[in-house]
Amino acid sequence: MNIKTTSGPIRENIWLNIIFFSGTTVAALIGCPFYLSRFGISSSEIFLFIFYLWATGISVTAGYHRLFSHVTYKAHPLVEFFFLFFGAAAFEMSALGWSSQHRDHHRYVDTENDPYNIKKGFFYAHIGWLIFWKHRSNLDNVRDLQKNSLVMHQDKHYLLWAVSSGILMPLVLGFLSGHLLGAFLFSICLRLTVVYHSTFAINSVCHMFGKATYDIYATAKDHWLVAFLTNGEGYHNFHHRFPGDYRNGVRWYQWDPSKWLIGFLSWFGLSRDLKRVSDFRILEARLAAEQQMARDSADKIFESTNVAENE
Ligand SMILES: [Zn+2]
Ligand SMILES: [Zn+2]
Repeated sequence: MNIKTTSGPIRENIWLNIIFFSGTTVAALIGCPFYLSRFGISSSEIFLFIFYLWATGISVTAGYHRLFSHVTYKAHPLVEFFFLFFGAAAFEMSALGWSSQHRDHHRYVDTENDPYNIKKGFFYAHIGWLIFWKHRSNLDNVRDLQKNSLVMHQDKHYLLWAVSSGILMPLVLGFLSGHLLGAFLFSICLRLTVVYHSTFAINSVCHMFGKATYDIYATAKDHWLVAFLTNGEGYHNFHHRFPGDYRNGVRWYQWDPSKWLIGFLSWFGLSRDLKRVSDFRILEARLAAEQQMARDSADKIFESTNVAENE
């Protein structure tokens, strides 16, 4: 977790973050199987867990990422509130801080100033950066978001938002349905563990494994399994090539519930100005990547033939 607002140094609460992060993980890994074997699980507990997993995950992907970080569409204040409320429940910083850091990731990708620099290894990009990354958040890159009073309220009172949405609300709902412990273990601890690792997989797995469909030299790759786990965010090669597009899974068969939700909301006027890169530019990028790949493998064959002939 990161309980700070963006006014102080980014690693201010590092030990508290580590204890919170490890505590919820250990409670989920040990507590959930124990609880299941002892008490089983009711339908209301399953519903609460699935709802929280979905609401928290989609608020990070369609909200923190595509709405606030990249401004790929505009949303009704009610939608903004939903994303800020459940996004805070992910304990991954305020939308303002998250967006600032994420914009740095795109701007400085694979360099010292990239918060989740994959060149420092899989572990660092996945989770190590939470412990070792020392840069201050430079809020110069989120001046546009600072004009949004809801975003600023969530940033200023982040702890209040995060605890209310991520801890108190599931506990109250669990208490009212007679399953307080179940709500704590599944809808808080297990849900947070799953959301953390699936979100972090975008920075680690998707910068190391998968297909380079649109830009063969980018470390960002398209990975269908991560896309499945993260509401469509795994098509990361496309996303780094076209970060201004509200879609990540751009082809009809690709799993991208964040895109579907944004599109669905637009039918009711709850989202608007959805930005799409033209089909022509996408096709052009794909063909250029395939051409480059063919050229590279032809070069390799040519080189190995030359070596064999000279021996
Ligand atoms: Zn990336
Ligand atoms: Zn992005």
